[in-house]
Amino acid sequence: RPVIVWFRNDLRIEDNPALFAARETGAPVIPLYILDDNIPHAPGSASLWWLHHSLSSLAETLEGRGAKLILRCGDSQDTLKLLADETNASHVFWNRRYYAKHIEIDKALKSDLKEQGITVETFNGSLLREPWEVETGSGGPYRVFTPFWKALKRLGPARIDTAPNLRKISGPSKSPKSEKLSSWNLLPKKPNWAKEFVTAWKPGEQGARDRLNHFLNDVIDDYASGRDRPDKDFTSRLSPHLAFGEISPLQIWKSTHEKMAEGKVSDNAAMKFLSEVAWREFSYNLLFYNEALPNEPLRENFKNYPWRDDPDGLNAWQKGMTGYPIVDAGMRQLWRTGWMHNRVRMIVASFLIKDLLIPWQEGEAWFWDTLVDADLSNNSASWQWVAGCGADAAPYFRIFNPITQGEKFDPDGEYVREFVPELKKLPKKHIHAPWKAPEGVLHDADIKLGKTYPFPIIDHAKARERALEGYNEIKGA
Ligand code: FAD
Repeated sequence: RPVIVWFRNDLRIEDNPALFAARETGAPVIPLYILDDNIPHAPGSASLWWLHHSLSSLAETLEGRGAKLILRCGDSQDTLKLLADETNASHVFWNRRYYAKHIEIDKALKSDLKEQGITVETFNGSLLREPWEVETGSGGPYRVFTPFWKALKRLGPARIDTAPNLRKISGPSKSPKSEKLSSWNLLPKKPNWAKEFVTAWKPGEQGARDRLNHFLNDVIDDYASGRDRPDKDFTSRLSPHLAFGEISPLQIWKSTHEKMAEGKVSDNAAMKFLSEVAWREFSYNLLFYNEALPNEPLRENFKNYPWRDDPDGLNAWQKGMTGYPIVDAGMRQLWRTGWMHNRVRMIVASFLIKDLLIPWQEGEAWFWDTLVDADLSNNSASWQWVAGCGADAAPYFRIFNPITQGEKFDPDGEYVREFVPELKKLPKKHIHAPWKAPEGVLHDADIKLGKTYPFPIIDHAKARERALEGYNEIKGA
């Protein structure tokens, strides 16, 4: 009897414990991916672009090892049960998920399959340590990152070795029917907003490996000092690969430690990088223990925050037309490439929440639809962090100033020039506050404020005061 491996956010062959265990049975392996539009927090548009390419790459790799990836569309539970029945499968293997609503689906399936006489085995394929393995001394989850990171370092990853690479995976002699990836229409048609994604990214396991190697060989030494500079390429850009599970955090952990042991990477750079990977683990912990994380503030008093309904402000923010160059550059980088530098994510999020007083959930939803690395844990935990209502969050009164942040982290204005080309000719002295530039300078740079580039949609100093007043209203609550 064959065995089924249900791929979800673990679209890789290497270090995939569920796939490895399936192969170890010696039975024919049926790799399966289900497109389920009704699953809570189904992927957004940019993620679907990535998914298309990632599945295509996974199918090709599997094919090369002897197995055919089966694609089915529909309700996850019904589809899996049907395939198990159709193929008379003896086992189903999958790597675990950590969001309550997804766990619910998996648990129900496990018990239904058991009733069908099918054994289900599940694994940790996407975390260094699962949430319940990293607990405080008195039990229960950490709510502050630093002690969490210390505990994670002390424990180390749950597995020491990555699951062995599989050279051969035998499928059944007659493969079950599969839908065609192209029939899923995951790619945009007209307008094709993903044109630049193709040059920016190489989805799939090989792309992930290339990124990691490039980062560890050529970039990591600049990481600790340069990771806040959006005008430089000093971060790994592994986030979409991690979000789709094309690489595991254990592979990253091990490769980084190997480089460190060979003396090719300084301890400082390596540990700074791994601590960011640990923020991802921390976010997964938060989501696991707080089902409402994507929707509701962890700090109750924020439910009463006097948010504004401002469709025009939201639209200007989404389009990168706020009149604040660093904010606009970030939002346009997001639209053009499906990714935004972390420092700029914090700036644009702060602007939406604190300058425009628009609920963070609106920003979370926009990011969810436009990011290729959209990750339920990281996205919701990070938005709550900037809003000041999450665990270990930035204090609410820390309001990012879009002008000084721009001057500090994009000192020559190169990042702004790349993504806001209408400001290209503006000298660096004025690039982060064009409305303060003398008329002659604007004229020489071919800028007509209000026509070629907007005036700021809000006065930051006044907006800051207003945000703090709002906070004072809920502070004592
Ligand atoms: P690197 O600096 O190279 O870090 C390596 C890996 O560590 C990342 O790929 C990521 O998996 C993890 N990581 C790094 N920083 C963080 C962080 N602050 N929190 C959690 N994990 C982190 N990250 C996502 O993966 N998906 C999201 O949907 C997402 N939404 C965000 C929304 C907001 C408002 C903010 C402020 C941050 C968000 N982040 C999100 C976190 C962070 O911005 C990205 O992980 C990072 O920019 C990805 O680039 P990188 O791979 O080059 O990061």
